[in-house]
Amino acid sequence: MSGENYKILVIDDEKHNIDVLNEILSPMYEVLISKDGLHGIKMAKEIVPDLILLDIIMPDMSGFEVIQTLKGSDVTRRIPVIFITGLDSYKDEEKGLLLGAADYITKPFRNAIVKARVKTQLQVVEYIRALERIGMVDALTDLPNRRSFDKQLENEWGRAKREKTPISIMVIDIDKFKVFNDTYGHAQGDVVLQYVAKSFKNTLKRPADYVARWGGEEFVIILPHTDLEGALTISELIRTDVEKLKIPYNDSFLSVTVSIGLNCEVPPRYSYPAEFLSKADKALYAAKEAGRNVVMPSAAAL
Ligand SMILES: [Mg+2]
Repeated sequence: MSGENYKILVIDDEKHNIDVLNEILSPMYEVLISKDGLHGIKMAKEIVPDLILLDIIMPDMSGFEVIQTLKGSDVTRRIPVIFITGLDSYKDEEKGLLLGAADYITKPFRNAIVKARVKTQLQVVEYIRALERIGMVDALTDLPNRRSFDKQLENEWGRAKREKTPISIMVIDIDKFKVFNDTYGHAQGDVVLQYVAKSFKNTLKRPADYVARWGGEEFVIILPHTDLEGALTISELIRTDVEKLKIPYNDSFLSVTVSIGLNCEVPPRYSYPAEFLSKADKALYAAKEAGRNVVMPSAAAL
C-alpha cells in the first residue's frame, strides 16, 4: 500500500449506509458514491475505481445484476467487488461469490471489519499490479502466467533436489473447450477460464501451492513437499470442485470438467524440470484417452 490514493466506489441506495461507509473509509481513501446500480455502473466505467462496495437490495437494479454487468465488461471486469448487505443467508453469500464477488460483508457492519477487508482487497490489487509491471501475470485470470511458472518450477525443482523431498505437478486441461467456445462464443469461454482459475485458487489451501495459466485452456499446479498420495487427494479435489461449478450463462448455469495429468518425483541428481513437466503432460494425454474428467498419474510418479 504505497501511499497511493485508492478510489473506492460505494453503490448503495440507503443514505445511512453511505454515511457510515464514508466515515470509515474517507480518512484513508477517496470515496465515490452512487445511490443506484445503473448510475454506479456508469461511474465504474468512467472512473475505474480500485474497489467497489456493492449493496445487494436496491430498487431498480439489484447488486447481483450490477456485478454481472461489471464482470461482463472489459473495462470493469477486474475491479474487485465486496458485497455489503443485510442478506446473511449462506445461499446469498454463495450466489454473490459465484457471480465473482471478492468478498462479502453483512450488515450491521463493524468498522474494523470493513477496514480490514477493504485493506486486504487493495493488497491483492497491489500484488497483481506488481506482477503486471514485471510481465508475470495473465490478464484474463489474474493468475501467474507461463513466464512466471517457468521460474517457479525451476526454483521449486531446485529446492526439492537439494532437500531430497518429493514435488508434485499437475497439468490441467479444460475438457472440450474448443467445442464449448464454438457453441457459446469466446466471451463465454473467457468467463469459464476465469471461474476455473478462481476454483483452483479456492481449492489450494497451503501457501506454497502454486497455480498458473500455462496457455489457452491449460493450467499448471506445483505442489512442493507433496508425495503422490497427497497429490492424488488434491488433484481429485481440484477436479471435483471444477465439476461442481455453476457458471452463469444468461438465466441459467453451465458446467465444465477438467482432465489432469499428474507427476510426482524426488528429483534425481541429474535431472531437469522440463522432463518432470513433460511426464505430467503425457499423463494428461492419457487422461484424455481414458475418457476425460479424470486424474491420471504419470508412469514415472513415485
Ligand atoms: Mg439497499
